[in-house]
Order: sequence, then structure tokens, then C-alpha cells
Amino acid sequence: MARNQKKVGQDKSEIVADIPLACADETAAVEFLEKQRWDGGACCPRCGDVDVYQMRDRKTGERNKRFLWRCKGCKQQFTVRIGTVMEESRIPARHWVYAFWRMCTSKKGVSALEIKRHTGLSYKSALFLLHRVRWAAAPKQDGPKLKGTVEVDETRVGGKPRKHRPHRADGKYTWKHKPKAPVFGAVVRETGQVRARVIPSVTTANLKKACNELIDQSSTLISDEAPAYVGIGREYAGHESVKHSAYEYVRGDITTNTIESFWAILKRGINGVYHNVSRKHLQRYVDEFEFRYNHREMEDGERVVAAIRGANDKRLMYREPVAG
Ligand SMILES: [Zn+2]
Repeated sequence: MARNQKKVGQDKSEIVADIPLACADETAAVEFLEKQRWDGGACCPRCGDVDVYQMRDRKTGERNKRFLWRCKGCKQQFTVRIGTVMEESRIPARHWVYAFWRMCTSKKGVSALEIKRHTGLSYKSALFLLHRVRWAAAPKQDGPKLKGTVEVDETRVGGKPRKHRPHRADGKYTWKHKPKAPVFGAVVRETGQVRARVIPSVTTANLKKACNELIDQSSTLISDEAPAYVGIGREYAGHESVKHSAYEYVRGDITTNTIESFWAILKRGINGVYHNVSRKHLQRYVDEFEFRYNHREMEDGERVVAAIRGANDKRLMYREPVAG
């Protein structure tokens, strides 16, 4: 829909100016979400009709308490939440705006504990809220693949495994915490766009699957000398590798420094703010860092709007992460 593709119509600094009130007042919050989602107009989330109107109290003329709209096309009622990650939630709109704002503007992310303290929500609700906000910011799975000169790499993130000596007869250690989870990442040199994905283990099959899903085959891959990439590279227009073992981190243009700078940001955030990210939720956190990295050139207000618009059409696609 043309409406959704339009650039943010409002002045950037103006968006940020609206946010404090939208985080404190429910009407202001709903109106903020409406303005940003529909770019000043409104449109029916069910049939796309723009012939819609706000429902008002007959006596007072005030807006309906549930902030309902009615569509003249399909005759149904709707709110700004319908068809988004907010649809099934009873969490007040002002807390949603607060979570979107904090997630988009804090460099290392925001913890559920912080949201709990600042909103008065329960820890469980704050966690739910943040997972949905991360899901809104996550890239659409059917979106375009990365194209160009693409650095690929993998790393391990998550809670630091610590040695733990239980009362074992053999005196051996066991791992008290789960081992770190492997993450595959790819970044386009030309545009700086990054995609990253948690993989079950570092195997050729898993790396190949991730490459195929994220990178267009017209691209030139740049990887380290891991043998897995030799075969994968043959499926792409080109492949160059850098030999880390021979201290060859930089050979002309052949480096993986860009993806490594993303890993540094991701690890600092995961270790600093989210001490105990479980493996089953890790992809959501990775999505969050990916979103901020890919929108780093934007002003804060624009980034908030990008995340709110990302919430469109995400309701049905939301899956609770599978245990792992
Ligand atoms: Zn309609």
C-alpha cells in the first residue's frame, strides 16, 4: 500500500517531541500510534478502505473509550492495534510507545526489569511487551536478500559458560550454564546492511542453509578460511577468503572487519544488558541488534516510526520461539 511506503511525513524532531506525552497519556499514545502507523490518515486494517471514521460518544463528542474506528467499506470496527503485534494485548498503548522508544534509542537495548520499574507492569508483562516489540523490529522473512560484496562469519554469544565443580567422585568439572549459541551473520560492504541468524550448530549444512536464505547468489562472499565456505562459495558469483591463521586479517579489500564490528556490538549488548538470554529467545535479541544496526543512520524519531510500522502484518506471523 502506497501509504505504508511513504517516507515519514512528519518532521523528525517533531516525532521525538511527541513521545514523552505519548508515554504518559493514553489518548496521546493512541493518537501517536495512529499518526505514525497511518501517516496522518487512517485506513481499515481488514479491507484497506480509507473511508473510515472515529467513533465518538454521542453526548460528549469525546472519542470512544476503546479508541474504536469504523470502516464504511466493510462496516467493521477496528483500533490501531488490529493487525499488529499489539492486537491481542491489554497492555496500555502508552507502555507500548515507551517500549518502542526505549528499544529504538538505547544503544545496548533495554531490559524487562527496566520496563517493569518505569511502567509498573509485572515482569512477565514487560517481558511479553519487549518480545513483541523485538518481533515488530525483526526483518520480514520474505524480504529481499542481501546483495553485493557480502562478508560472512559466525560467532558464539550468550551467557558465559562457567566451570562448576559439583560433588563428583572423579573431580571433573561440569558446565553449569549452557554453552554459548552459534550465530551466523552477513553484512553487505556497499550498504552496511546486516542479517544474522542463530544456527543450531556450526556445520557446513547449517551455514549453507543460512547463506541461501539470507544472501542472493549474484553476490561475492568474503569469509575466513573455514573449509565450510569453500563449497558454499562455489554457489556464489565470487568468493574470497582471508587467512586469520597466517595473521592475514587485512589483504587489500579482503577483510571481515565489518561483520566483526557488528559482533562486538551484539556481544557487548547481550553480555551487558541481557545477562541470561536463553537460547530459545536469542534470535529475538539478535533481531533487535540487527534492527538498530541497520537503522543507525536514522534519527531517533524515524527509527521509532520504522519499528512501529514494522509491527504491521506481524500479528499472525508471530510464533513463540521453539524451545532449544
Ligand atoms: Zn474495512
